[in-house]
Amino acid sequence: MILEIAQYEHPALRTKGRTIATIDDAIHQLVADMVETMRAAEGIGLAAQQVGRPLQLFVLDVAQTKEHPSRMRIAGKSVEFDDMMPLAVINPVITPFGRIRAASEGCLSFPGLRGDVLRPMAVRVKALAIDGSSLEFEAEGLLGRAVQHEFDHLQGILYLDRMSPPDLANLPSQAQRLARPVPPS
Ligand code: ZN
Repeated sequence: MILEIAQYEHPALRTKGRTIATIDDAIHQLVADMVETMRAAEGIGLAAQQVGRPLQLFVLDVAQTKEHPSRMRIAGKSVEFDDMMPLAVINPVITPFGRIRAASEGCLSFPGLRGDVLRPMAVRVKALAIDGSSLEFEAEGLLGRAVQHEFDHLQGILYLDRMSPPDLANLPSQAQRLARPVPPS
């Protein structure tokens, strides 16, 4: 089922997600619906906050985006996206690393808007997979950026908060006024 995507000042977008204690049938259904919603909206990532459910959960799918390369490694070995995507990430802990780069980002909660965001180019992730097994990987490129963008959603942080001031100033005032300082991590 395609879910409604929370936009702009929707309170769920500013709510830190609860840890998922049990991956039950309701979570399986939520993940299936989030993947369907993300694909229908042609997104590469969607956080539970964005469907009005503040939980420590996001989904990703970068398998179709050829023009912005991504790399993913598990236990030091490169993996094929086709085997991994769509990917549900539950209760993640992340460690961003590498050089800090600016790149253009969009967000399904702010349709049609884009702006440059500075982020480290890679990230290490420790989380649970949808089957409850441990999920550990490293991601670089577009996937590394998407993981950090979605992880921010789980903390109630929006990409507007990290956007370069000139790019933020180019957005409609309705979006600009929602930007907040990022709390220290
Ligand atoms: Zn977003």
